[in-house]
Amino acid sequence: MVVDQALIAKITAEIVASLQGGEGNAKQVQDGIFDTVDEAVAAARKAYKELKQFSRMEREKFVQAIRDAAYANAATMAEMAVWESGMGRVSDKILKNQLAAMKSPGTEDLKPVAWTGDDGLTLLEMGPYGVIGSITPTTNPTETIICNGIGMIAAGNAIFFSPHPTAKNTSLWTIRLFNEAVVKAGGPANLMTSVANPSIEAANAMMKHPDINMLVATGGPGVVKAVLSSGKKAIGAGAGNPPVVVDETADIPKAAKDIVNGCSFDNNLPCIAEKEVIAVGSIADQLMMYMQRNGAYLINEEQREALKEVIMTAKEGKIAEGCTGPAKKVYGINKDYVGKSAQYILDKIGISVPDTIKVVLCEAPADHPFVVEELMMPVLPVVSVKDIDAAIELAVKVEHGNRHTAIMHSKNVDNLTRMARAIETTIFVKNAPSYAGIGVGGEGYTTFTIAGPTGEGLTSAKSFTRQRRCVLVEGFSIV
Ligand code: NAD
Repeated sequence: MVVDQALIAKITAEIVASLQGGEGNAKQVQDGIFDTVDEAVAAARKAYKELKQFSRMEREKFVQAIRDAAYANAATMAEMAVWESGMGRVSDKILKNQLAAMKSPGTEDLKPVAWTGDDGLTLLEMGPYGVIGSITPTTNPTETIICNGIGMIAAGNAIFFSPHPTAKNTSLWTIRLFNEAVVKAGGPANLMTSVANPSIEAANAMMKHPDINMLVATGGPGVVKAVLSSGKKAIGAGAGNPPVVVDETADIPKAAKDIVNGCSFDNNLPCIAEKEVIAVGSIADQLMMYMQRNGAYLINEEQREALKEVIMTAKEGKIAEGCTGPAKKVYGINKDYVGKSAQYILDKIGISVPDTIKVVLCEAPADHPFVVEELMMPVLPVVSVKDIDAAIELAVKVEHGNRHTAIMHSKNVDNLTRMARAIETTIFVKNAPSYAGIGVGGEGYTTFTIAGPTGEGLTSAKSFTRQRRCVLVEGFSIV
């Protein structure tokens, strides 16, 4: 997909105009973008109160308006996100936006519970929290605003979004688009708000604001820790490092294809995407051979180490535990390469490939930084182990207790069950690409906010509610 520079320039000019005042400023009242956190939160609180006056059916109409706007503008949002953040693939981001628009649950997710008996009727219903502070990542900027926006508003809340600064124009444009769609559908203005200049400081001010009732962080460990330390109700959707285990009973050609497809989706940006393969030794070579037939490019040990010096940076003054030599430096990711294509990455070590190459493949020892770190780029190490016991043990270790996502290719039900029990991840995908776990070619709804640390799992409208019990004694039990 070719990025439409003229369209991007027009949209950027619109954003700049609206942020600079004049006619644009007058529109801000409607479009959710304010100069200060205080103004934005106050507007969101007003919108929350107004939303309460509408029926549930009307609320669903506003949600539908967001879905329609998201679906219709999926390509524009994808182009803007890739252009601004420099990460990912436009074609895959279009699919992700469409997925979030279509498969994020709405008001139907809010199912009441009733108890009836001799003492009457007790009802448990899901009520809104109020104004939710939602912190969103640069890796899925628009997708997260779509799915969180739909779920939070379906549940009756208003939102203050803290977008990642490296995707701020895209995020603000998306917020404005959805506010306009809701207002056009007859709903309150400013159900989604933000500030014109999103920053970590603004996010911190938002977290401390007394009129923010709940926090939802979708991002790395730092931001999850920040919301969990806030003293407010918080949902933390944090980092993953999803391992793929392949045993000797798997359909190897299919496993190879699924792994390449899952790993390369949006250049490996999704937190659920395959990050390292752990293969039983007897099938490892065959697996890599089939992966190469499906768009993976195998590099040797020397090339792998050269690549490590490009896509990773040695952490200042840190040496791996128990080691002293330079080979055991501790590495972190070089953010310049996050979400870049395999073609772009290989070019940096002097290897020229066509864009049909989607994944950089290498063999690696179990403690290699490519295995241990969450790379978020299509560089896939394969660790060969002696048997399934060793594979499961290593998978649990390199998942780091994130309890996020794991994938396994096997036809042995006992092995699959053992792995699922040992790794305790929120998502466990069997014999499919990782994205089946969020409803692409797999059953179930979607979300881009997967809350492992706080246990809500794949969040949906009901995750953003408070339970409320209503008791009627001696009546309305009709049998
Ligand atoms: P990030 O943690 O750098 O940023 C996420 C958001 O938090 C941004 O809006 C950023 O501005 C803000 N932020 C970061 N540190 C903060 C702090 N100390 N105080 C206040 N705000 C802070 O993450 P990213 O690079 O945008 O996204 C990638 C990471 O997010 C990966 O680790 C990935 O696995 C994870 N992720 C998880 C999920 C999930 O559903 N579990 C979804 C997407 C991304």
